Amino acid sequence: MTDVQLSVVVPCFNEAEVIESFHTALHAVLADLGETFEICYVDDGSRDGTRLLLNALATRDGRVRYTAFSRNFGKEAAMLAGLRMTRGSAVVIMDADLQHPPGLIPRMLELHRHGYDQVIPRRDRSGEGMVRTTLSHTYYAVVRRCMDVELIDGSGDFRLLSRRAVESVLSLPESNRFSKGIFSWIGFDTVSFRYRNSERVAGRSKWGSRRLLNYGIDGLLSFNNRPLRLAIYTGFWVFVSALAYAAWTVVKVVLHGADTPGYATLITAVVALSGIQLVTLGVIGEYVGRIYHEAKHRPPYVVRETDETCPAPPEHAP
Ligand code: UDP
Ligand code: MG
Repeated sequence: MTDVQLSVVVPCFNEAEVIESFHTALHAVLADLGETFEICYVDDGSRDGTRLLLNALATRDGRVRYTAFSRNFGKEAAMLAGLRMTRGSAVVIMDADLQHPPGLIPRMLELHRHGYDQVIPRRDRSGEGMVRTTLSHTYYAVVRRCMDVELIDGSGDFRLLSRRAVESVLSLPESNRFSKGIFSWIGFDTVSFRYRNSERVAGRSKWGSRRLLNYGIDGLLSFNNRPLRLAIYTGFWVFVSALAYAAWTVVKVVLHGADTPGYATLITAVVALSGIQLVTLGVIGEYVGRIYHEAKHRPPYVVRETDETCPAPPEHAP
């Protein structure tokens, strides 16, 4: 079946509470489009029965397909698996919690038909906590300075990709993936438009502050080696200022004789330098860790079952 016009990729992790209403909403929109479509769900190792619900949906409707992971591998892995499943000439990636309104799909398709390879609905940040909004803004400001590719604030993973954009995303071999960066890196004609942010309908966000922080660091480091460069420059300038300071001290001692205080200066210098060294080591360590990770050539996820391997609903709940 190669005549699918639109594929929708939906990563799901513990979404049993919303998946039915999400599916109903999405299906209503897709049915109105008058195009052939498929919905590719990826169950990212949910522990709440999401997989069984997906299995039931797939059994009911041949246009629904799913892949279930053996455990939770993270949204990046789930999106990758979803993209690999798709056959459509346009692909939409969206969250299962109805924060990405299915109602926007017709408009996205319309823009795609005008020749755009990537269509990105950008959410404003209404309804999000003050702290989180401020942190996100700061993060994007820092990232913009540190990365070779451009990230747009408010553009999440919700987007439409043309077939050739999907193929280029899939052609990148790295297993430590940062999609926001990858989508921007592949290029092609891109257009974005704004929509109103909404709260997730049910269930909980899987992104605690720690997970967000880790994701942020991943994003900064997984895309280029500018942070390493930064560490080198910082080290260099600290070293130069230390030399200048030493020279100045020598001159002062020669002119005015030795003076015992200066203890504070000494301590400050030591602490500052150790700080910089630790940061630099950390940055290098991160890269070494990444090299180690890539060198193992592990697959980004392990599949437990798909709609094809597990066509009938299992007898017992897990
Ligand atoms: N998700 C996933 N694996 C994970 C975490 C999240 O597949 O490990 C999915 C989740 O089911 C949802 C989407 O990614 O469809 C976004 O997750 P969430 O709503 O928790 O993130 P937020 O909207 O708070 O950024
Ligand atoms: Mg959400």
